[in-house]
Amino acid sequence: MSVTVSLRDEVTELLQDLIRVDTTNPPGNETAAAEVLRNYLEESGAQVDLYARVPERANLVARIPGRGEGPTLLFLSHTDVVLADAAEWSAGPVGGELRDGEVWGRGALDMKGQVAASAVALASLAREGFEPAGDLIFAATADEEVGDGFGAQWLCETHPDAVRCDYLINEGSGERLELGGKPFYTCSVAEKMSAPFRLRVRGRSGHASMPGIADNALVKAAPLITALGEYVPEQQLTPEVEALLEAVTGKRPASPQDALEQARSIGEFFAEMVEPLLSLTLSPTMIGASRKRNVIPALCDVTVDSRLLPEATIDAQHAIVRKVLGDGDYELKSLEAHGGTRSPIDTPLWDAVAGWIKEVEPEAKPAPICVAGFTDSHWFREAFGTVAYGFFPLRVMDAELAARLIHSADERIPVADLELAVSFMRHAAKSMLA
Ligand SMILES: [Zn+2]
Repeated sequence: MSVTVSLRDEVTELLQDLIRVDTTNPPGNETAAAEVLRNYLEESGAQVDLYARVPERANLVARIPGRGEGPTLLFLSHTDVVLADAAEWSAGPVGGELRDGEVWGRGALDMKGQVAASAVALASLAREGFEPAGDLIFAATADEEVGDGFGAQWLCETHPDAVRCDYLINEGSGERLELGGKPFYTCSVAEKMSAPFRLRVRGRSGHASMPGIADNALVKAAPLITALGEYVPEQQLTPEVEALLEAVTGKRPASPQDALEQARSIGEFFAEMVEPLLSLTLSPTMIGASRKRNVIPALCDVTVDSRLLPEATIDAQHAIVRKVLGDGDYELKSLEAHGGTRSPIDTPLWDAVAGWIKEVEPEAKPAPICVAGFTDSHWFREAFGTVAYGFFPLRVMDAELAARLIHSADERIPVADLELAVSFMRHAAKSMLA
């Protein structure tokens, strides 16, 4: 190159450009972001293709073809973002402003920052003439935030050859935490299943001034809600909790109780992090009954948020709920079931994460976690058996602050963390595909 620009400047500028194209989903319009990426990536000599179910919602796939002698690695990210209300922000949400060493704008953390870092890692390797053992792939997909079938799911089903991979790095974690006085970087290897359901309780309507003639569905629902709220789930150990505790305390827990006690000895915050990873959760959150004050409802719908441990089933969830509620006058209906997959921890991708951490912060260690939400990783685990981890290292930005800014006002990312992410992506590609 005649002009040398540091990767730090390169990733900063690319993120600013990506923030400046509005990809609020709905409607998405991710093709605008895919074009920014295509223009940037094609200069590096990487292969770039756009795949779109409808023209305005393109997914981009870039590739450095491998020698056919090793595994394939894919950097996964999504280009759509959630709505930002400019009135709440102290900078323009699509301004991409650089202020005090931070890039501001919707998507800086979730997840145009990782889009930019992944693109710069692949482009810089392509420019250097990197010849990977297996393909190095970068997929910037549409429609993660709504999930209407324009993004990763559609790509895996319709163009499997474009995105089939052995290993994948996605969003989900990577924050630096201090636990028991020692630094850790979280790496998500599993996701709970989001499996909300609806309880429908039936009664008989009537005028509210004569309750004796009616059968009030709202009143009938009350003890069911109480039973769900009071339910103490049976806890079990998972591979993620065992490995997490071993990393943090040096001891593998013998039982769920032991895991919680060990976690409490580190701190209440850590115990709060571990507890939901030991069981399913049931949280009644919404209720609908009569729409008129003077009409006794014949119907009451209770919506319950529920997260299942990885690889648990809806049938097992229903059996538990029926046991909690007993026989009664209610109908149970699943509203959706997403995620709930895991990848093994002892893999070359884990070694790549651990090796990189050792280089940038020798006293720190990786901490495997299972996250409560789900990402697009499950489509790849299900379609190709991919080992998929969520890892986007944040060292300068405080983990609690980052959690507060995602999907909220004043989202931003330190340039130093963008640069760190580029270094991780490059390390992962070089160490796994040498
Ligand atoms: Zn995201």
